[in-house]
Amino acid sequence: MKRGFLIVLSGPSGCGKGTVADELFRRNDDIVFSVSATTREARPGEVDGKSYFFLSEEEFLKKVENDEFLEYASVHGHYYGTPKDFITKKIEEGEIVLLDIDVQGALQIKQKMKEVVFIFLVPPSMSELKRRLVGRATESEKDLELRIANGFKEISFVEEYDFFVVNDYLEDAVRDIEAIIKAEKHRAKRFKYIKDRVLGENK
Ligand code: ADP
Ligand code: 5GP
Repeated sequence: MKRGFLIVLSGPSGCGKGTVADELFRRNDDIVFSVSATTREARPGEVDGKSYFFLSEEEFLKKVENDEFLEYASVHGHYYGTPKDFITKKIEEGEIVLLDIDVQGALQIKQKMKEVVFIFLVPPSMSELKRRLVGRATESEKDLELRIANGFKEISFVEEYDFFVVNDYLEDAVRDIEAIIKAEKHRAKRFKYIKDRVLGENK
């Protein structure tokens, strides 16, 4: 039975992680989204259980206490966390699980898990990043400034990741990530998961 693996996708707010991820899911039915929990408010159009599990701070901290998160962090003034159970199950079922999480969460996962591909999505420029965030029109002026300031800090962590992908043209960024995933599927150490099938006839 082949095992799946995790893809951690990080990058400054507004660089296009959600947009790129949606396109990856549309084109690749073996990639699934890890729905995070958060204490931030839902944006118009976001669906509880699909975009995020929207929780109160009390509910979130209860889950922390019960050790239900693979990682969690305070990002832009709110808690965000990755539920553990879903990931364990999907990896055992051979799926590729994509996590859209921040740098703090990525560093926690790096300490805990093997078989993770860390990808950092980079905007073509900081001015374009600002344009995209402003254009998305989902944050107040104050939140926008916080996200841009945090974006500068996050970019300094890019070398902690295995790969960077520039999201200038969406199509190129999606293809670059698909190429990284394809290479990961062919990693020699993953051969152990299909060995039985290949060698079966000689047993
Ligand atoms: P993130 O999930 O990283 O915060 P989003 O996916 O919400 O970012 O994208 C932020 C804004 O930028 C959205 O309005 C989205 O439509 C736009 N966007 C994403 N990728 C591109 C791209 N390659 N070119 C132009 N606009 C983009
Ligand atoms: P947003 O509020 O724009 O959806 O997300 C804000 C930031 O939180 C993004 O950088 C996103 O990657 C990050 N994030 C989303 N879910 C998680 C999570 O489960 N854990 C961590 N550490 N960060 C997350």
